[in-house]
Amino acid sequence: MTDVAIVGGGVIGLSCAFELARRGRSVTVLEREQPGFGASTVAAGMLTPSFEVELTPQSLVELQLDSLRRYPQFVREIEAAGGQSCGYRDEGSLWVSRHRDDELELDHILKIQQERGLPARRMTGQEVRQVEPYVSPRAVGGLLVESDHQVDSRKLVPALHAACHAVGVELRTQTAVKSVERARGSLQLTLEHEASASTLNAEQVLLAAGVWLEDGLITPLPRIGMRPIKGQIVHLQGEPLARHVLRNSDVYLVPRHGGRLLIGATEEEQGFDMNPTAGGTLDLLRFGFEVLPGIYDLDVAEIDVGLRPTFHDHMPVLGPTTTDGIYMASGHYRGGVLLAAATAHWMAEVMTTADVPEHLEPFSFDRFLGQRAQQEAAG
Ligand SMILES: Cc1cc2nc3c(=O)[nH]c(=O)nc-3n(C[C@H](O)[C@H](O)[C@H](O)COP(=O)(O)OP(=O)(O)OC[C@H]3O[C@@H](n4cnc5c(N)ncnc54)[C@H](O)[C@@H]3O)c2cc1C
Repeated sequence: MTDVAIVGGGVIGLSCAFELARRGRSVTVLEREQPGFGASTVAAGMLTPSFEVELTPQSLVELQLDSLRRYPQFVREIEAAGGQSCGYRDEGSLWVSRHRDDELELDHILKIQQERGLPARRMTGQEVRQVEPYVSPRAVGGLLVESDHQVDSRKLVPALHAACHAVGVELRTQTAVKSVERARGSLQLTLEHEASASTLNAEQVLLAAGVWLEDGLITPLPRIGMRPIKGQIVHLQGEPLARHVLRNSDVYLVPRHGGRLLIGATEEEQGFDMNPTAGGTLDLLRFGFEVLPGIYDLDVAEIDVGLRPTFHDHMPVLGPTTTDGIYMASGHYRGGVLLAAATAHWMAEVMTTADVPEHLEPFSFDRFLGQRAQQEAAG
């Protein structure tokens, strides 16, 4: 018997496990493969609420900003507990415009960012190159967002794993959860490890299974439409060409320590397909070259592919479900790394106090049930 069983050892499952264990709960994480097998270690690790501010509902922007504010302490606590670096960097991000159309777009984005309380600074092309000398001479302007930060997701996940271990979380790898059901006062999980089945009883279950939430996992919950959005990301290696995260409307470039540069990312409806493609790589390199021509001489280190967990409205579900004791922290789409700090904090609050704060209401499980009922009535 465990207080909390968490299905999934990605950045969301591990962050919640760490926070719940620090609050005195006994926690068991069940991971079908290894921690970070899913989207979490593919992520570029940008902590950039400013990026899609125009298309993001205000409730989600506020949650992202809440998470960004929590990040420095979140990282300090993980590093202090487990002794491993999360690769946190605070250089900010820089939009680079290539022509008049981009310039007008940056003016528009700046206005929305200011309305939403995000500090940003417009720059000329010359100012952009003073800050980032390798940016294309064709760049005509920029927008600097100093409050944007980043972590190295390939460091964050092992660091979280170590921190979880240090605070007493039990992590069972190569252990798939096949089903969750109510059984006499507790929840019973059926597990499969090396082809043998077993059960685990828990007071509470947290579903953090990424895109596999409704794939091969049987629960009493209605299906609410989880789907994967494929993302390809190219890793280049060589002379460091940038300090900031650079971006325009087609691409982002994320510098990591040691001369690694990530260029991402495609956004594709391909179901569970995980193959890198020539077209995806071509687009990323072409758009990346427009921003930083020096990438031409870098080595291609790898092409990584991940599946972003997404619901219809691109907002996560955070909180209780329709079955007593089963909670969900899923559907973080393009922002699971950024949202990990707030998700861990608020899920631990909800699961230890049974209160759901008002600002989490837009992320309720129930919002999809309303839509289902309306669709059924209409159709
Ligand atoms: C190319 C790309 C770039 C991205 N860049 C960023 C970025 O810059 N910033 C940002 O904030 N976000 C980014 N994201 C999004 C981010 O990666 C995701 O939102 C986040 O990783 C989701 O984390 P998760 O823990 O919910 O899912 P996952 O990381 O997918 O973890 C789910 C885990 O559950 C396990 N699992 C599934 N089913 C079961 C089961 N039945 N039993 C046991 N275990 C199970 C899986 O093996 C997996 O390890 C990016 C994503 C992609 C693909």
